[in-house]
Amino acid sequence: MTDFTQLGVKAIRDGVAGGDFTAREVAEAFNAAVAEAAELNAFIVTTPDHALAAADATDAKRAKGEPLGKMGGVPIGMKDLFATKGVQTTAASHILEGFDPEYESTVSQNLWDAGAGMLGKLNLDQFAMGSSNETSYFGNVNSPWKKEGTNAAMSPGGSSGGSSSAVAARIAPAATGTDTGGSIRQPAAFTGICGIKPTYGRCSRWGVVAFASSLDQAGPMARSIEDCAIMLEAMAGFDPKDSTSLDMPVPEWEAGLNADLKGKKVGIPREYMMDGTDEAILKSWEQGKEWLRDAGAEIVDISLPHTKYALPAYYIVAPAEASSNLARYDGVRYGLRDLPDGAGLQDMYAATRAAGFGDEVKRRILIGTYVLSAGFYDAYYNQAQKVRALVARDFENAWAECDVILAPTTPTPSFPLGSLNEDPLTMYLNDVFAVPASLAGLPAMSVPAMMTDDGLPLGLQLVGKPFDEQGVLNAGLAIQQRANFTAQPEKWW
Ligand code: GLN
Repeated sequence: MTDFTQLGVKAIRDGVAGGDFTAREVAEAFNAAVAEAAELNAFIVTTPDHALAAADATDAKRAKGEPLGKMGGVPIGMKDLFATKGVQTTAASHILEGFDPEYESTVSQNLWDAGAGMLGKLNLDQFAMGSSNETSYFGNVNSPWKKEGTNAAMSPGGSSGGSSSAVAARIAPAATGTDTGGSIRQPAAFTGICGIKPTYGRCSRWGVVAFASSLDQAGPMARSIEDCAIMLEAMAGFDPKDSTSLDMPVPEWEAGLNADLKGKKVGIPREYMMDGTDEAILKSWEQGKEWLRDAGAEIVDISLPHTKYALPAYYIVAPAEASSNLARYDGVRYGLRDLPDGAGLQDMYAATRAAGFGDEVKRRILIGTYVLSAGFYDAYYNQAQKVRALVARDFENAWAECDVILAPTTPTPSFPLGSLNEDPLTMYLNDVFAVPASLAGLPAMSVPAMMTDDGLPLGLQLVGKPFDEQGVLNAGLAIQQRANFTAQPEKWW
């Protein structure tokens, strides 16, 4: 009998379309796997009925000979940052607990229209702020991976840690993620899966709980390049409800996949060679160059001179936008309300926000408010915006010399939960390689490369020109074919 949970997006879609099995069988298998995996804490709520209803709709269409859609019969996990009509949407915060949106986000609606169903809402770092999935109000997410010889609970990365954990553990064939400064790529790298952040504007932000609006982008997380291409096609598209949405047709990324890189130049940014980068990561980067050379590409050295300023600039721009976006949670409009006896309106705002936001979120609001305050605006926020422009210009210059950039996704492999949260700066360093592409709005992905000697996955990052998701996916495919990454976590949950 087929173990449906081993199948990815393409295998499920094609198997259902070809009549090898029904969408209902697949949904039932994943619903059962989700129910068994409570120890991972990957889901905040599960929605087995949603997955079954979508599956039945697909099976009914097939019986009538109607087209099944790009994601027909595929049940997925939905990061709990996407508003889902009638299904609690919390951004992993207490302040939004009990918030059942009246509307569906554009990206989730696109996925349902393409025939996908929902297994549940996935845990994440609170308001997508974090790199380890330890800031959720609903508890840490556990990675399905263990470091060899230890039983320590490992981080699945963040903020899309529920997504990465679920896909790596094979309790979901794919999941949505969002990436503001690495939150798709870093968790994908930590768990041995693929994840792509498309060009800023490809996926509508409408109905996605806002963190830093000029950076936030949705994207797919799945176990192969093909699955990411399929799911991104279903998610992307112009949306008049998002003023920064790209008014461009969605390319046929799946059909366009081609791992022959003859004539392509791959840039290796010398500034990404940083102190403190793990030996194993450097080794995987070297190996990545070999693989791409083998696929026909020419490897060229490039310079992105402002790289070291990207992370500090990000930690000004992102909190600034967050402090403004999070002003809307006031105890009046959504979720939690804390109204002390005899309190006035201002007291209610203060009490609600004090009780409703976690420490990391408060830290970001404080930093953001500070850098935007009249006396410091020029010194911090304006300066960071200028740095952002310089980081973007570095990439523009680099495209004169190469077609795609290869770099590590993260400076280290996954770490034990609890090991970094005393030190926010070390935690922030997780995104040092991810943030430059975010500031520049470029498509970027992580693809699994190899395992460390102690049994943890490592990812490689590909960054592309604006709108060139295809180039990123194709280079990713070349790596996938050569890395032959088949490792799976041993089931302990
Ligand atoms: N880890 C980064 C942060 O905490 C990025 C988060 C994200 O991309 N959502 O801000």
